[in-house]
Amino acid sequence: MHALVLEQSEGKTLATVKQLSPDALPPGEVTVDVSWSGLNYKDALAITGKGKIVRQFPMVPGIDFAGQVRHSEDPRFHTGQQVLLTGWGVGENHWGGLAEQARVKGDWLTPMPEGLDGRRAMIIGTAGLTAMLCIMALEEGGVRPDSGEVIVTGASGGVGSTAVSLLSSLGYRVTAVSGRPSTHDYLHQLGASEILPREAFSADSRPLEKQRWAGAVDTAGDKVLASVLAQMNYGGVVAACGLAAGFALPTTVMPFILRNVRLQGVDSVTAPAERRLAAWKRLVKTLPDAFYQQATTEIALVDAAASAAKLLNNEITGRTLVKIR
Ligand code: NDP
Repeated sequence: MHALVLEQSEGKTLATVKQLSPDALPPGEVTVDVSWSGLNYKDALAITGKGKIVRQFPMVPGIDFAGQVRHSEDPRFHTGQQVLLTGWGVGENHWGGLAEQARVKGDWLTPMPEGLDGRRAMIIGTAGLTAMLCIMALEEGGVRPDSGEVIVTGASGGVGSTAVSLLSSLGYRVTAVSGRPSTHDYLHQLGASEILPREAFSADSRPLEKQRWAGAVDTAGDKVLASVLAQMNYGGVVAACGLAAGFALPTTVMPFILRNVRLQGVDSVTAPAERRLAAWKRLVKTLPDAFYQQATTEIALVDAAASAAKLLNNEITGRTLVKIR
């Protein structure tokens, strides 16, 4: 089997496509022939070594994959069944999806939701699942299309693009924040009604600013999230899932105690199975067909390392789909 293998040499991470014996796969109840994987922000950090994602080497990266069960010792799965996986530390501390085969715990797998195939599942990937979990968090906080505008930061990335498309399909008026003027046509096509420059959110914000947003999906963190919090309407909800700008949060308690703002963290890695399934079902139902073309760049396994560097240089829009076999 071919796999992208991460190794360490003199403190640097090297990423090479190698031929491995399937005997080298880690323990697990289900072996999957991987058809598609994706490149997420976390994969890019792992592959380039720019983030401390991987601590044991050699490691096969790839935090998500879709494919067909080759062998199963878990009665819930059978040979030939289509499955997908996101999260659970796969591609971080257990060999992941950027390989022709993966062996994982049955508990980590999701049967392919009705109406989805492996390719579409990985166009959505971890990023899209996270976007849906963010929207579910807004809804659970009482945000509805008639509550007011929703803002999405890091809008042209994987999570951001999917959030813009989903929110627009659900009838929300969406404002996208992007650092790149080149992405404006793309974001309008996905359904954004307005686009604001990232610089407007990158400076120190005052504790409270003019109220603008009923809801927010934040993939950036740091000053961007602090600015968003200061601009939330009374009773607004922010779903925070990312740290593309940084992991700090230089804010005050003012939005919370004077405007009743709710800040809801969102994690996709260990989200419970029922919640994942609910999110996948809604993704299938809500994402328009056009999204799958508009938001996708398809690459081969050998291109994954170069694309990871591009992703961290903010040169990629939407989702990067990796064709494995
Ligand atoms: P992408 O790289 O695809 O998208 C990130 C986007 O953020 C970029 O496209 C860019 O959008 C924007 N951005 C880049 N640099 C900065 C910066 N310095 N300041 C502000 N914005 C910036 O990544 P993903 O969409 O895959 O992931 C986004 C974030 O969400 C990451 O931090 C990731 O770790 C996190 N994440 C969290 C998950 C969870 O379970 N909590 C799951 C998946 C992702 P633009 O050019 O439009 O400004």
